[in-house]
Amino acid sequence: MKAVQIVKPNQLEVIDIEKPVIDPKNNVLVKMTAAGICGSDVGIYHGTNAAATYPRIIGHEMVGVVAEVGDNVSSLKIGDRIIINQVTSCGHCYPCSKNRGNVCDNLKVRGVHIDGGYREYIAVPESDCYLLPDSLSDQDAVMIEPTTIAVQACSRAQLEFQDTVMIIGAGALGSSMLRIVNLYSPRKIIVVDIDEPKLEAALQNGATDVINSKTEDVVTRAKELTDGYGPTVVIDCACFHGSFLTACKAAGNASRVITMGFSIAPDEINQFVITSKELDVRGSRLQNHRFQTVIDLINKGKIDLNGSISHTFKLTDAQAAFDFNDTHDPSIRKIALLND
Ligand code: MN
Ligand code: ZN
Repeated sequence: MKAVQIVKPNQLEVIDIEKPVIDPKNNVLVKMTAAGICGSDVGIYHGTNAAATYPRIIGHEMVGVVAEVGDNVSSLKIGDRIIINQVTSCGHCYPCSKNRGNVCDNLKVRGVHIDGGYREYIAVPESDCYLLPDSLSDQDAVMIEPTTIAVQACSRAQLEFQDTVMIIGAGALGSSMLRIVNLYSPRKIIVVDIDEPKLEAALQNGATDVINSKTEDVVTRAKELTDGYGPTVVIDCACFHGSFLTACKAAGNASRVITMGFSIAPDEINQFVITSKELDVRGSRLQNHRFQTVIDLINKGKIDLNGSISHTFKLTDAQAAFDFNDTHDPSIRKIALLND
């Protein structure tokens, strides 16, 4: 069967590998139908993802259909449409003992540390499979994964309706974040970006205010928009040089600042800005069993992921898909690789 492997940075190959067989642990064989291209996949392809190891079959937004089940499988049957959890954890380390397997000491993320979903078939444990809503196509279902990332961040922020929220970045992650932040009906949602069309879209999708950080001072404007106080929650979905300090400066006393970036470039910050306001600075990584939460939100009609995918390519045309993604064509929202 075919799989898409990043042999080393900037070298993508469609390879032939053995079709996996199920065993008592990986007891569900999934025929992949759709897989998203995420910023982190692009990072692994271009060699800028610090977590990645090579060679690697990438892809962590993994949608498929159950093709075979082991004797010990009780909740799934052949033909079920599912999305696969990308996080695998050991179950016996300190974070796992605190039910935080997404930061397991022995964390293995499919498509990053272990092989992922850009392939025709994958064998995974039953417990990592989540049934898809009937209302969602396989290609649009890949967006469930980015949405889980946003749910995780809002949970880390302990978001409440009294909050005033500032989201830095209106790209793919920032848009998913806006969609989930909206569900909490906070008093304000301020979105920051440098791209006017993206800010326009944010206003249409529930942002109460926007700040163009190219032309406006973010800290000053954020305070103005929050009666001089500063947002009570700042979520940094952009992670550019200086964004962390900006987030901490803008945040009001006793606020929460959520970091999501993976940059290892140093960024200057001082302790006073955190201590003096007793900020809670919290990282949010991947997601911790959030798939069912997102699927429930879809089934209840609280969020609609239909039409999320702007472009599709055949799995075996992955090179063309990544090349097209590199053009940064403004029409690109989300690309999915399809296997039929
Ligand atoms: Mn992703
Ligand atoms: Zn663990």
